[in-house]
Amino acid sequence: MQGMSRTVPLILIVCVSLLVWAEGGASAARGGAQVPSIRLPGPAFAALESITPEHIRWHVRFLSHDLLEGRGTGQRGGDLAAEYIATQFAEYGLKPAGDHGTYMQKVPLVGITTLPQTQFALLPKRGEAMILKPLEEYVAYDQTQQPESDVDAEIVFVGYGIEAPEYNWDDYKNADVRGKVLMMLVNEPSSNDPRFFKGKALTYYGRWTYKYEEAARRGAVGVILVHKAEMASYPWDVVRNSNSGEKAALKMEGPALKVASWIQYEVASRLASASGMNLEKAMASAQSRDFHPVTLNARLKAHMMSQVRSFESNNVLAVLPGSDRGVAGEAVLYTAHYDHFGIRSDMTGDNIFNGAADNATGCGILLELARAFGSARERPHRSILFAAVTAEEQGLLGSEYLGKHSPIPAGKITLDINYDDVKPLGAPEEVEVSGAERTTFYPNVQATAKEFRLAIRPDARPEAGHFYRSDHFSLARVGIPSFSINEGMKYKGHPESWGIEKEKEYVEKHYHQPSDEYHSEMDFVGDSAMARFGFALGWEAASLPKLVGWEKGDEFDAARISSQK
Ligand SMILES: [Zn+2]
Repeated sequence: MQGMSRTVPLILIVCVSLLVWAEGGASAARGGAQVPSIRLPGPAFAALESITPEHIRWHVRFLSHDLLEGRGTGQRGGDLAAEYIATQFAEYGLKPAGDHGTYMQKVPLVGITTLPQTQFALLPKRGEAMILKPLEEYVAYDQTQQPESDVDAEIVFVGYGIEAPEYNWDDYKNADVRGKVLMMLVNEPSSNDPRFFKGKALTYYGRWTYKYEEAARRGAVGVILVHKAEMASYPWDVVRNSNSGEKAALKMEGPALKVASWIQYEVASRLASASGMNLEKAMASAQSRDFHPVTLNARLKAHMMSQVRSFESNNVLAVLPGSDRGVAGEAVLYTAHYDHFGIRSDMTGDNIFNGAADNATGCGILLELARAFGSARERPHRSILFAAVTAEEQGLLGSEYLGKHSPIPAGKITLDINYDDVKPLGAPEEVEVSGAERTTFYPNVQATAKEFRLAIRPDARPEAGHFYRSDHFSLARVGIPSFSINEGMKYKGHPESWGIEKEKEYVEKHYHQPSDEYHSEMDFVGDSAMARFGFALGWEAASLPKLVGWEKGDEFDAARISSQK
């Protein structure tokens, strides 16, 4: 454990907790007695105190204005938002950290639409060819980003398609799957043992993205995921909706599948019996460590036809150089995505996706943090990197690109703190920091939360895998200890049920809808509190003698270690 008391030279300070709820930056303690604290140096504390709800409000108001046209990725409104953010960074005295001395980091993107001319047939050795109906029986994308691809290959059932050394699990058992099509199950081997794939909680191994990536790394040409509602925790409709229309991706850099697909369980079952395999039995055997890949007596014959469109957007990057030459090459990273869905021209009525909560709020916080750090009379030891990332709504693409092409190498970024959708509902009494408990920084997070009088609210549904659905995850994948900061459910002056009700109302009526708009009665005190909390954590992480890491054996620990070799 790294305690600040041993690590930061003693400094003059004030008690943080007195100030957390202070609105508009006017604090009870400012003129009052300077209570000694062991956490932040005086100038840092003064900068923290300057963070106000109203600053955040004005950024949110502008960024979610109809004139910003919903900040669509690769669209005029998104580019305007990026330019606004870059302008603020410059105004705060931060240095450009994008391409060629600018604040912009170009993110090359590709939009892929699977065309109806695509053919997808399962061919058991005996019996009839199964020509599948698109969207009803299967969905498929060609990840190679080519307009046409052909696959005619043997199908191998690989269980869950997972190799996880930390859980002593390997479905592949060194089988050569080059040129093969791999049929596999979604999710991960089931267990209530927290030491085995984190028990009920979903790990990244259970996500379909991991399964595609692992298969591609091994040289497979295709993956067929078997969809069973109980196993996926969502119905086929969800698979169909998220696999129809255009799908965006980063311009290809690594190995990719010609066929990345899902089929309905019933289809898999029919295929299995036509190829002399008992699917139920095979699925049961996949629960065991002793599972070995099974070659089916069947092939996939697919002709993929895609419309491929290139476009680009930008991450907006700025840096405040650290004060200590020894560690100024290392950094704390703050992230928030600025993109949203733009305008849907096929919709009548209000069709501008303003994204006030999602995620003008996170941008407002990011900008307010940038201003506060930029204005501090003393700089932290390590550098502070600020990144407003693009294409989050397209699948965390801007942050993925940043993780792979960070101006400060991933192994030198001590911590990423992300903000996404921080609702302007008033003063929170809780904070959510899911994922932080997996890092060596957690004791500091706990201590700071205590000082801020914020109770840490645990992830209510770890099995839903929310950790894998916001930008901090892209940074975790390249090894950076990362988590998002958000409010919990308990707000000052309200019972917890009020917060839960508000959340429910938001999800049902406004989430990813044009009605996620700015209103003048919104209360940004909570956003300000989350910014202050993140400021204190970031300053601390920038001052610790050692870089933060993942706990030993964590699923991201291996990436961390290899990034620091
Ligand atoms: Zn969103």
